[in-house]
Amino acid sequence: MSREAPPILRLQDVSLTFRTRAGAVRALNGASLAVHEGEAIGLVGESGSGKSTLARAVLGLNPERSSRIEAGRILIAGRDVTRLSQAEWEGARGHPVAMVFQDPLSFLNPIMRIGRQIAESIERHAPDRRVEERVGELLALVKLPPSLARAYPHELSGGMRQRALLAVALACEPRLLIADEPTTALDVTTQAEILALLRDLREQLGMAMLLITHDLGIVSSACERLYVIYAGRVLEWGRSQDVFGAPAHPYTVGLFQAARADRDAQGRFATIGGEPPDLGETAKGCPFAPRCPSAMAECIQSMPGVTVVGEAGSHAVRCWLYPPAQDAAATAGHVFGS
Ligand code: SF4
Repeated sequence: MSREAPPILRLQDVSLTFRTRAGAVRALNGASLAVHEGEAIGLVGESGSGKSTLARAVLGLNPERSSRIEAGRILIAGRDVTRLSQAEWEGARGHPVAMVFQDPLSFLNPIMRIGRQIAESIERHAPDRRVEERVGELLALVKLPPSLARAYPHELSGGMRQRALLAVALACEPRLLIADEPTTALDVTTQAEILALLRDLREQLGMAMLLITHDLGIVSSACERLYVIYAGRVLEWGRSQDVFGAPAHPYTVGLFQAARADRDAQGRFATIGGEPPDLGETAKGCPFAPRCPSAMAECIQSMPGVTVVGEAGSHAVRCWLYPPAQDAAATAGHVFGS
């Protein structure tokens, strides 16, 4: 992984609001992260934590009419894409960042053969390639037989559709693949096959991956670093071995206990009590305070800053349980994971 070039993806303090009938909903609230060339990064959090909104914001996929980036910047390979219009996005999606989704059926054209959909992606992004030959190569890359080029999406199993969508994404020759819950809708065996395929593709093509999931087991086996997001804020991040080895934020600790199916003194399975916050309200303190077993008076007064809890660059957290960093400049690299 190169740390000399700018990250392939960087979010700097991004705040995004949805307008709803019930009022404004702040889905991202100063979220920052960075993905470097060739890295595998996990973004984890409960449903509604903002992880899919963040992924869609990277590619301008949130609805233009009802969503707005209020603050911050999104940079792809150093290019500021924060304010691109939908028309500008049409030519910009796919390379250098492509995305696959939990439900491939929503993104594959139901009345177009798989081979044609891959071909269109090639023609858009690499018109000088020999299209038919390249379709065959891409099907082989995702371990689908050449005959599937003539199939329609409804004729494929869930795992095959996810592979077909991967082939469409890879036709753009991305340097970063965002995979939003790519295995959630699949059975356990197919999940393992798709994850193995993603790992192979990363190694083979040298591309980076941002894996969005609520499944911590997947992150621990597939990702070098992870970010933990809650209520639209990144609250903890670092190398997987450090965060899994010594989770610092009470929310991360709760997620890990629930994932391991730990039991309390009464033998009940561990859960994170309470509900995620109402994103329509503007709380000034820590968003996790109403559910946090360690909450203190200052937690509801103001949002904690960044504290480095591991060796340089390896692990950082935003929580009043840890003494705030004295040198804001020194923490900047930790904010962006660079
Ligand atoms: Fe809990 Fe306070 Fe830390 Fe928030 S800042 S996680 S409320 S201890």
